[in-house]
Amino acid sequence: MELVVKRYRCTHSATCVCLKGHISEDAMYLVFEHMKWNPKMIAIFSSVCKWFDEFAKRVLWKEFCHARAPKMMTDLHSDGSHIVDGNWKALGKLLIYCSACPRGDLFSNIHVPIPGHFVYRTRFSRTLGKSLVPPQCKSDVLYVSDSCEHLDQGEEGDLGLFRGIFKSFAGSNMKKMLIERQATFHPNEVCPYCKTKLWHLMQPNMIPSSASVRLDADDDSVEYYVCLNGHIIGSCTLMPYSDSEDTKEE
Ligand SMILES: [Zn+2]
Ligand SMILES: [Zn+2]
Repeated sequence: MELVVKRYRCTHSATCVCLKGHISEDAMYLVFEHMKWNPKMIAIFSSVCKWFDEFAKRVLWKEFCHARAPKMMTDLHSDGSHIVDGNWKALGKLLIYCSACPRGDLFSNIHVPIPGHFVYRTRFSRTLGKSLVPPQCKSDVLYVSDSCEHLDQGEEGDLGLFRGIFKSFAGSNMKKMLIERQATFHPNEVCPYCKTKLWHLMQPNMIPSSASVRLDADDDSVEYYVCLNGHIIGSCTLMPYSDSEDTKEE
């Protein structure tokens, strides 16, 4: 295969290490297509070169998202899109990264920081999303990941951490409700995926009790945040294994 190696200087940053310029976008596209849009490689290149980061945000993360979760992507975009150019990177990260709780002041059941980590493959479910929204938001579409299990976290027990995204969040009932109820933003933490502010869903009746049943979590331990772009990050305390089978006796 003959690659046309046209070189472009990195015009975005004086600190870019690519002093000799870049191969063209078309060539870069072919290279990454060959690597099946390897997200770790995209992330590594993006961190050292602004030109590449900008290209990845516009093109490569989009291809990665469509390759990794085609049905979810089609659905998220089926009635117009709130996912504009820059957000493909956030969405790509959401698919493959459990942000955990790097500083211990996000969730009431986590007091010791838990570092974020890559996750090889995660299932995102609309059905699980339904159980996490209050009745007045039932028509909203929310994709939520299976819990990432962080087991045996000392006093904090077994934790389930989940993440997700609302479809068309700007026009969702959830956003309307958060504004009407004057939900509060976390004072200093931001969304780990897109860096916008986080609404905390801790006021009464914002999270239905069905959430803890679906997540196999202790009652009332489920909490989550929604960012201005509709990403969610949440946590719950998982039921001990021995209890989750048959717990009906009092
Ligand atoms: Zn995790
Ligand atoms: Zn976000």
